[in-house]
Amino acid sequence: ETLDKGLERTKQGVFSKLARAIAGKSKIDDEILDNLEEVFITSDVGVETTLKIIERIEKRVARDKYVNSSELNSLLCEEITDLLAENNNESSLPDFTVPADHQPHVIMVVGVNGVGKTTTIGKLASQFKKAGNKVVLGAADTFRAAAIEQLDVWGERAGVPVIKQKLGSDPASVAYDTLQSAKATGANVVIIDTAGRLHNKKGLMDELTKIRNVMQKVVPDAPHEVLLVLDGSTGQNAFEQARQFVAATSVNELAITKLDGTAKGGVVIGISDQFRIPVKYIGLGEGIDDLQVFHKKEFVESLFG
Ligand code: GDP
Repeated sequence: ETLDKGLERTKQGVFSKLARAIAGKSKIDDEILDNLEEVFITSDVGVETTLKIIERIEKRVARDKYVNSSELNSLLCEEITDLLAENNNESSLPDFTVPADHQPHVIMVVGVNGVGKTTTIGKLASQFKKAGNKVVLGAADTFRAAAIEQLDVWGERAGVPVIKQKLGSDPASVAYDTLQSAKATGANVVIIDTAGRLHNKKGLMDELTKIRNVMQKVVPDAPHEVLLVLDGSTGQNAFEQARQFVAATSVNELAITKLDGTAKGGVVIGISDQFRIPVKYIGLGEGIDDLQVFHKKEFVESLFG
C-alpha cells in the first residue's frame, strides 16, 4: 500500500542493515545488539531513543533467555510501538474532523522555510475539504513573496480561498483577517501559514505570540492546534529545529515530510519519542494526496514487519 511504497527507501535501508546485523546468527546476542545500535543510529533514530530501544530488547532477551534472531523483527515492532505509545494521544475524532464547538477550528502551522510547510498546508486543506469541512487559508508568512504565491497555488489546487495582504504586511493582521473571513463565510477550518525564520529566537517567539494574541480577539481559544512541520530527510537537523520551535512556542503536533525520498525515516521514531509531541501527519510525496495521518503501529510495522 501507499505507506509501504512511500517508506520504501527507509525500509530497504533498515531491512538490509538488520539482515547484516543478524547474518549467520541464530540467537540474539551482545554482538547483534551492538549492531542493532548502529542500525538505528544510522537510520537517524537518534542516540537517546536508540539506547531506549536497545535496553528494551536487552530486557526481553534476558527475560526470555533464548531469543531466536528470526524473532528480532516482531520484537522490534512490539517494543518500538510500545515506546511510542508512551506518547499516545491519537485523536478520538475521525481523521480530518474537528470539534463542532470550534467556530472555526484554527490550526497554526510553523516550521522553517523549505521543509514543506506550504505543501503540507495545501494537502491538509484538500483533505479537510474532502472530509466535508469548509476551509480557509491565511497567508501570514508575509516575509517572502514566494510564500504568498505558493500558498495561493495550493489554495487553488485544493479549491479553498486564501486570505492575504501585500508582502511585508503584519502577519498578525493577516491572521486576524483570515479568522474574520472564516466567521463571515461560515468556514469551520482555518489553517494559518507563518514565517519560518529561525535566525532569531526572540523574534520568532514574539511574532508567533503576537499572531496568537490577535487571533484570540476573534476566536478566544485559538489556535486549537500548533503544527510544526519538519523535513524528515534532514535527519538530525530536524531534531534541532524541533528543539528550537518547542522553545519558542507551544507546539502540540508534528508533520514530518519528505519521507518518500529518504532512508532516514527512523527520524519519526526518535522525534516522536524525544519530544513527547505526537506525530500527526507524514508527507510521502509532492502530490496533493501524498499526506497520511500517522498511526504508529502501522508505521512501525511497515518498517520492521
Ligand atoms: P516551505 O518553504 O516549507 O513552504 O516548503 P514547500 O512546501 O514549498 O516545499 C519545498 C519543496 O519540498 C517543494 O519542492 C515540495 O514539492 C517538496 N515537498 C514537500 N513535501 C514533500 C514530501 O512529502 N515529499 C517530497 N518528496 N517532497 C516534498
